[in-house]
Amino acid sequence: MAQTKKLVIGNWKLYIDSPKEAKELYRASQNAARAARRTHVVVCPQTPLLGLFASNVSSSIRLGAQDAFWDVEPKHTGASSVYALRSLGVSHVILGHSEMRAAGETSHLVSLKTQTVIKHGLTAVICVGENERDMRGGYLTTLESQIRESLTGITRPKLASVVIAYEPVWAIGKSADQAMTPSTLHETTLFIKKILVSMYGRKPGTAVRVLYGGSVESKNAASLMQEGTVDGFLVGHASVDAKEFKAIIASVDKA
Ligand code: PEP
Repeated sequence: MAQTKKLVIGNWKLYIDSPKEAKELYRASQNAARAARRTHVVVCPQTPLLGLFASNVSSSIRLGAQDAFWDVEPKHTGASSVYALRSLGVSHVILGHSEMRAAGETSHLVSLKTQTVIKHGLTAVICVGENERDMRGGYLTTLESQIRESLTGITRPKLASVVIAYEPVWAIGKSADQAMTPSTLHETTLFIKKILVSMYGRKPGTAVRVLYGGSVESKNAASLMQEGTVDGFLVGHASVDAKEFKAIIASVDKA
């Protein structure tokens, strides 16, 4: 996947349970993705549904998983290995989503998963984001430590397989008018890039793609793209509404 293309990732979470619905939504997302010239599209169904699309991954639409286990040894009940995911055509894996972090996932665990995912040829989509914006700027410390710790063990040559998804937890699962404003997003994106530059140097650090996630809808997609200086979006609830997702992809492609 060329680094310069913009990226839209649909996180279906558990919104879609039935194979029938999943196939319909995948088909609609694929059509929307085909119309995009400068944007890659990835959709992430829940793990039991991934196999439905194993033979239908193409250059216009890619398949992502919502998590992967950090180890490849067989003695782990209930996990999904990178081998199994890769054999189903998965190319991207969401890691450290706030809903996983809320259930106990640490940045240390995210770094182990990131290393495994990249080692096996997949792209790690590392989610970071503060729970709230406090007046003293503690959220910047949270953000910085999540980024640094999640990227432990990731050397410069591996960076091409890393995407950072900035998802402020307070903005997730709401509506466009409660999302982050484009100007605040712009400031935060610069902060994230600054951390990446301090870790990896100017060129490699600025080349890492940074996405925004948190109540992106067709209403706010264009302004967040234009002013927010992000490389695309990680979309939750609006990615399971075919019309909304199509409009978001079109906005990103146009920006
Ligand atoms: C998410 O949880 O990854 C997300 C971005 O959700 P939503 O778009 O629903 O805020």
